Amino acid sequence: MSAKFQIPNFATVEDVIEELKPGYPVYCLRPAELRRQASYFLDTFPGRVMYAVKCNPHLTVLQALYDAGIRHFDTASLAEIALVREHLPQADCYFMHPVKPRAAIMTAHKVYGVDHYVIDHEKELDKLIDVTGGGDGKVVLVRIVTPVHDAQYQLSDKFGIAAEDAPGLLRKVHDAHFQTGVAFHVGSQCRTPQAFVDGINTALDVIEAAAVPVHYLDVGGGFPALYEDDRPPALSAYFDAIEQAFDQSRLRRDCVLMCEPGRGLVASGCTLLTQIQLRKDDKLYINDGVYQSLSETLMGKMKLPARLINPGRSIVEECQDFTILGPTCDNLDILPAPFYLPVDADEGDWIEIGQTGAYSNSAATRFNGFFPETFVSVDAPPLLPQER
Ligand SMILES: *Cc1c(COP(=O)(O)O)cnc(C)c1O
Repeated sequence: MSAKFQIPNFATVEDVIEELKPGYPVYCLRPAELRRQASYFLDTFPGRVMYAVKCNPHLTVLQALYDAGIRHFDTASLAEIALVREHLPQADCYFMHPVKPRAAIMTAHKVYGVDHYVIDHEKELDKLIDVTGGGDGKVVLVRIVTPVHDAQYQLSDKFGIAAEDAPGLLRKVHDAHFQTGVAFHVGSQCRTPQAFVDGINTALDVIEAAAVPVHYLDVGGGFPALYEDDRPPALSAYFDAIEQAFDQSRLRRDCVLMCEPGRGLVASGCTLLTQIQLRKDDKLYINDGVYQSLSETLMGKMKLPARLINPGRSIVEECQDFTILGPTCDNLDILPAPFYLPVDADEGDWIEIGQTGAYSNSAATRFNGFFPETFVSVDAPPLLPQER
């Protein structure tokens, strides 16, 4: 396999419309923006950058990140590992799900040569030893719970061992002859750099108490993207805070610092082109919704930038709020926040929705027969929230 995976390329989103007149949603990927963001992380984050594949596993996304220099991929399932390894044979996969089926561990280990795993419970360690035979150059990171800060999703509700129980588990990992690491995730769309500082300090306490050598410190994902009403600090503020906390620790000399960005790396790398199917007063029924690409507008209350496009007519400038309704027959399928669009928006017009590179296609269901699966790449810059 050598031919690179290709999708149709267009100069602008207007060109996509002229060519396809799409009555179906179209993901307009921005490989240049993805490469730019990846380069920024690689140049500025003071350690190893791993991409969290669940955020957007499209091959064009993986390829753009790889082209920019990303070589490490945070994968949570055998399907993700296979996807990465078969398309990017030189890339490294890290199996970062704390709960793994035995067969998946076996295949990851034997077929794909995966040697980084995360756990948050002793029984998962037993499973790893059982299936892989233990130690022998492999790395096991212990995922810990860290102090809660302002983040849109709190992942510690589901995973992580309490800091007071973590030293014992870390010692067991060491005793089983694995290389050791500590990992955490401060929650997705984290709005305070201090969350990472507290996370690192919690990890340092755990490491101190465990009194075994630790080779990896993984600060996870959570780096924020920009949304309409959500302007967190710049990524550099997070990287500076992390660098400072890490540098002050004695780990600096012999420990690899890692991060696992998803959202903060790829959110801006795609826009979604949708079409209005019907207007009723101030309501616009469109062809994508919360069961497909826009689940985060409901689950995370994300407010996405949007603009109306129709190359076939002139659009007025005056705007108003419209309620946006998705295509399924379910009453949940209404976006919680309105879009501010030209007052003459109507059937057949298109709405481009920005910041849809993260958790859009990767979270879409086939509910009710609506499943967006058209991807193109576009040269024009992506649609970002306006400065204000
Ligand atoms: C989802 C996830 C990430 C990415 O999180 P973002 O908030 O999108 O950066 C990183 N690591 C793990 C283990 C995850 O589950």
